[in-house]
Amino acid sequence: MAKENNPTVATEKDIKEAQKSTYDQLLEGNRLFVEGELKNDPDYFKKLSAGQSPKVLWIGCSDSRVPANQVTNTKPGEVFVHRNIANVCVHSDMNMLSVLDYSVNVLKVKHVIVAGHYGCGGVAAAMTRKQFGLIDNWLRHIKDVYRLHSHELDLITDPQVRADRLVELNVIEQVFNLCKTTIIQNAWKERSDLEVHGWVVDIRTGLVKDLKVSCSNTDNLSKVFALDAVTPAAH
Ligand SMILES: [Zn+2]
Repeated sequence: MAKENNPTVATEKDIKEAQKSTYDQLLEGNRLFVEGELKNDPDYFKKLSAGQSPKVLWIGCSDSRVPANQVTNTKPGEVFVHRNIANVCVHSDMNMLSVLDYSVNVLKVKHVIVAGHYGCGGVAAAMTRKQFGLIDNWLRHIKDVYRLHSHELDLITDPQVRADRLVELNVIEQVFNLCKTTIIQNAWKERSDLEVHGWVVDIRTGLVKDLKVSCSNTDNLSKVFALDAVTPAAH
């Protein structure tokens, strides 16, 4: 349908202009960001480029509404970040493990925070029987969380309340998954200033709910997951 007959139909030119506008806004945003920081502190980027020593690792959802720095009112350099769909921590994910190992053993972060959020599309999708494509393989991890807690979840009749609870249970299980890694457990054997926490960001209010599942030892894990220290091989 031609545009002159229906002004609501976007032409190829309109689409290209909108595309360029979104892209240009990002570059303009960067210019404003640099200008603003330099106005506050002319040496800002000089200092930032000298190195990083964040005290926090944030493992959150890729959802565009839950950015680690804005949610915690922190600045560049303060939070090391890993994000994936529905903040899942799987012990075979080399990406997550690399981020965890580097932040715990090299940067020596003090706090690892798994941050889920209410209204998580990944969690909502995992509660359905629909196929979404490749992502179904990733969402399987959340379906496993559902199965672990189905006795509780199946009793919740309101779908919204049930989804919110699965968001919380997913965070709790991912906290435990982190605590089961040799990376966290070996760090605990060496130092006492490392804690793993579980949070949910309520995107309806912006506020964080601390799920109070913070761990700094293996006490809350089933015995089979609490690993002994590696002893040097006998010669
Ligand atoms: Zn999400």
